Amino acid sequence: MVLLQISEPGRSPDPHHHRRAVGIDLGTTNSLVATVRSGSPVTLANDRGEHLLPSVVRYLSGGVEVGKTALEHAVDDPLNTLISVKRYMGRGVEDIARLGKQLPYELAAGKPGMVRFRTVSGDVSPVQVSAEILRTLAERAEASLGGSLDGAVITVPAYFDDAQRQATKDAAMLAGIKVLRLLSEPTAAAVAYGLDQGDEGVIAVYDLGGGTFDISVLRFSRGIFEVLATGGDSALGGDDLDRCIAEWIADQAGLSTDLAPALQRNLLRVACRAKEQLSESDEVALSVEDWSGRLDREILYSLVDPLIDKTLRACRRTLRDAGVETADVVNVVLVGGSTRMPRIRQQVAAMFAREPLASIDPDRVVAIGAARQADVLVGNKPGDEMLLLDVIPLSLGLETMGGLMEKIIHRNTTIPVSKAQEFTTFRDGQTAMAIHVLQGERELISNCRSLARFELRGIPPMTAGVAKVRVSFQVDADGLLNVSAREVNSGVETGIQVKPSYGLDDGEISRMLQDSFAHAREDMKLRALKEQQVEADRLIEDLAAALTRDGERLLSEAEYHCLEVALSELRKYRQDCEDYRELQRHIESVANASETFAALRMDDAVSRALSGHRLEEFEGRQ
Ligand code: AMP
Repeated sequence: MVLLQISEPGRSPDPHHHRRAVGIDLGTTNSLVATVRSGSPVTLANDRGEHLLPSVVRYLSGGVEVGKTALEHAVDDPLNTLISVKRYMGRGVEDIARLGKQLPYELAAGKPGMVRFRTVSGDVSPVQVSAEILRTLAERAEASLGGSLDGAVITVPAYFDDAQRQATKDAAMLAGIKVLRLLSEPTAAAVAYGLDQGDEGVIAVYDLGGGTFDISVLRFSRGIFEVLATGGDSALGGDDLDRCIAEWIADQAGLSTDLAPALQRNLLRVACRAKEQLSESDEVALSVEDWSGRLDREILYSLVDPLIDKTLRACRRTLRDAGVETADVVNVVLVGGSTRMPRIRQQVAAMFAREPLASIDPDRVVAIGAARQADVLVGNKPGDEMLLLDVIPLSLGLETMGGLMEKIIHRNTTIPVSKAQEFTTFRDGQTAMAIHVLQGERELISNCRSLARFELRGIPPMTAGVAKVRVSFQVDADGLLNVSAREVNSGVETGIQVKPSYGLDDGEISRMLQDSFAHAREDMKLRALKEQQVEADRLIEDLAAALTRDGERLLSEAEYHCLEVALSELRKYRQDCEDYRELQRHIESVANASETFAALRMDDAVSRALSGHRLEEFEGRQ
């Protein structure tokens, strides 16, 4: 759909004005910028003709270096040379500790929350580091396109959560880039091949880079890409193939296993070069130290096949998670430098029983897709129907009484989306409400991920259940969440933009989903039990208060004792009972036993209200 444009009075619209839009692949190891030029997407090179920008930033006492020059100092200046910061985007220090990862950098002291690195030019966050990379790419694009940019589409992994997406957006803002949209990397790869213009169906995106393997299963239907499942291995890539080959060479050369670091590095370099050459030729000559030999494809395949098998197993698992059969996949897209290896193409083709799409450079395909999308979003292709929408990968909701997760927006809902639900107070006179925003599929909040907490204060004191608090969730086109809470009677309102400081491990989203399937039955029972426990608490609180206030006055000693016993039994049941049906039966029996007392209290309240008044007074008012 195209919006009608109205020009300013006195100025005629320029129908041929071409806006400068780019797609940026902000990668863990390398980053790229691309644009659509005369209808064709191209990646942009720096003045030395290099397209790939290593995602490395080196901090010096009086400035920064970005890219290749920075990378050259990774060994001699490791603390100031920050590499792979994408792994830390939107992550807290505690996350890193929880994941058991040792940070290779020095962390800024006394700063709980977000990760910050200590460098010679001060403490920097992953957002700032990424901003340097983005700024370098934006400057490259501006120089190449001859003016400032109108906007960019930046790609993020499909499994990136709100915090990681927000961090990416913040980095772009810091770099002065207008973000048209964050787009998931596999979706961008599919767009690069024009699959958004093609048939509907399931698409698998197989992405094997230097250090990571990602497999994403997408469904394209009615103009929308939906991420059905993601999987992979964040510690498997071309580097592992190099290590296998290096070990083989060391073995052939009769080198001991205890090699000096310099020799190890040399071996890996030789192995990597041999691997890449074998993508073109059948055999290569090798020489290390005073050994020389040959490596052919047959031996190479015997070395790398176990690792390729590992990726294929992850593919099968992810297809299963997505609930689709291999035969449902209508297209397979290859991404990442390692997919240049013919053996990988062969094995992937065999598994999916179809030739994968591999005609676009696998290092550039994501940036190219992003550029195509940017071109449309910025308005350079009026009339183009391409409308790409993503879906939220995990449900978003709130904590309710009993530590339960109440889902407001379910997973796989297409974004942007906005939904609201009404909640009420638990206690009489309650003037504040704690809003705890969560993400996940499980019933108990302890199994979900906490995104943010805030409080709605200033609710006028009312009887429990009377206040109406409307909580609205809004997820924008980039997957960012805004939550607001408003008490309907009084109008008090507050809100928060979710910018949580804690991220998820790469495979954690799919793990969370798998867990939710595996524990569905058990979770339902737990949820029912928690609900009954909340019910029991409410009854215990009400009955105890009523007994204290009116018990002795309105009940005989025997009746009083009876209810006291019922109350203490209910307390015990509340504590020990693990069967929700049994607890429910017990609550009902206590509620029945206290019915007479409740009726007596009601009569008592009515007669008190009436005492001293003539009936006509009330009748006259009606
Ligand atoms: P990426 O992280 O996507 O840039 O991928 C880098 C990985 O791709 C490295 O392990 C490279 O050795 C590998 N790679 C690049 N070109 C080739 C090739 N022609 N054949 C095999 N592997 C390659």
